[in-house]
Amino acid sequence: MQTIYDLPLSAMEEMLKAHGQKPYRAKQLYNWLYRKRAESFEEMSDLPAALIGKLSQEYQLMPVKLLDKQVARDRTAKYLFELEDGATIETVLMHFNFGKSVCVSSQVGCNMACSFCASGLLKKQRDLTAGELVGQIMYIQKELDAQGERVDNIVVMGTGEPFDNYENVMDFCAVVNSDHGLSIGARHITISTCGIVPRIYEFAQGHYQYNLAVSLHAPNDELRRSLMPVDKAYPLDELMKALKTYSEDNHRRLTFEYILLKGVNDSDDDAKQLADLIRGMNAYVNLIPYNEVDENGYKTTDERRALHFYDVIMKNGVKATLRSRHGDDIDAACGQLRARHERNKE
Ligand code: SAH
Repeated sequence: MQTIYDLPLSAMEEMLKAHGQKPYRAKQLYNWLYRKRAESFEEMSDLPAALIGKLSQEYQLMPVKLLDKQVARDRTAKYLFELEDGATIETVLMHFNFGKSVCVSSQVGCNMACSFCASGLLKKQRDLTAGELVGQIMYIQKELDAQGERVDNIVVMGTGEPFDNYENVMDFCAVVNSDHGLSIGARHITISTCGIVPRIYEFAQGHYQYNLAVSLHAPNDELRRSLMPVDKAYPLDELMKALKTYSEDNHRRLTFEYILLKGVNDSDDDAKQLADLIRGMNAYVNLIPYNEVDENGYKTTDERRALHFYDVIMKNGVKATLRSRHGDDIDAACGQLRARHERNKE
């Protein structure tokens, strides 16, 4: 059954119109779903009984069911959810001093096949619907309600390539961003892509206020291709051209993600090439310690080397941050918990 969380406000108005209802009912419904965090249509006491009846026949609310949850010493929590068709996805909750961030998955599995990533161990089964993305947030928000806490930030950085599921991801953002719902500010929502160039242009044309992060991981095509097959379809010069268009048209600062892989992409020369690639753009580099995945043999760059890499980038005129580790005593790398669960099923 379709979840009502699928519907951005405008689609909700359309749906209600088709049921002979006035448009203001959509805001009422949003209020019940996202402000009062209703668990059922029955409790929506100011809606006409006939409408409640119809909605309960056509839609469900929560499209995700908890299968497993791991909590790390630093309180990072990883959720394994089951969807209606039995597919499983992961969602992560992180506690930062600037607030609580939820990392959502955008697809069941992933086809991008980055060599270092555990998500690609399981091929894409399907895209998530907008409602399944919203469901990940609502499940965790309802849990946080018990402590009077809220989801402050959303990163679309879980399993999947959001720009390979563009429409549903944009609908999801519209739902969680809506002033009549959770009202999570656009600048608190970050979409991370491995670099699907046509969608970057589309995103640029939409003039959204959401943050864009791009997984770079290598400063030249030769190395990037060996890590990320997407580079063969969209090489760096095309990618950088699209990103310059985006950031100039939108006056937005870009984030480049760069995971540090020991002996692979962490030399001084790599750092200099990286700085040359980015210098002059309104962008910064987020250096990410690699979460080791048993299956592929890559190792994390040690801390001293990481700091040095950071210094070289900064000295070469590009801003960078070095991300701290989170939840490394649980299966926190993208796709690890799910991969283990799927293996155990066999
Ligand atoms: N497909 C999108 C979003 C999902 S991946 C993208 O590629 O951006 C989110 C980020 O986590 C990417 O930068 C990805 O390269 C990185 N990542 C994947 N596996 C990782 C691991 N084991 N340790 C650290 N970062 C990882």
